[in-house]
Amino acid sequence: MNISHILVPTDFSPFSDLAIKSATSLASTFQAKVTILHVLTLAEVNILTSQPGNPWENVVLQIQNDMLKEAKENLAPSFPVEKIALEVVAGEPVEEIVRFAEENQVDLIVMGTHGRTGLASVFLGSVTIGVIKKTCIPVMVVKRGEALQ
Ligand code: ATP
Ligand code: MN
Repeated sequence: MNISHILVPTDFSPFSDLAIKSATSLASTFQAKVTILHVLTLAEVNILTSQPGNPWENVVLQIQNDMLKEAKENLAPSFPVEKIALEVVAGEPVEEIVRFAEENQVDLIVMGTHGRTGLASVFLGSVTIGVIKKTCIPVMVVKRGEALQ
């Protein structure tokens, strides 16, 4: 299996932090490019853009800024931050994650078992389950506390 492009969907939870650690560690080994993707739901977009002077372009910049911070805090040693692309899109998270992966020759999707909103007692969050169901691209699900070295 050739791994040259790894996608990490983030919701800024500690689970996503760990997914970034694992993905960048793998990417170092495979000399792969990494894309971090955040999907805003339409409800979130409406709230964020309803504030005066906050057009969509500004929202994207603010979120990319948060993504860059999360990336820098969780980069595997030796993986250059310049090799990370930051993408922000609006829509339904599962659909957009799968669409991005399939349209951009992603070889592996790395994501957390859980995220920001779910219950720890649920086995897997709905976004992770949805992505696994909807795409044939391999998905690596990272469990908190078990980072790759
Ligand atoms: P649920 O959302 O079903 O209540 P949860 O929040 O615990 O449960 P998920 O939302 O499935 O779990 O999150 C699992 C992983 O999915 C996260 O670690 C992250 O990798 C990804 N993810 C979740 N939401 C988004 C999003 N809006 N944009 C990008 N990635 C996301
Ligand atoms: Mn969630």
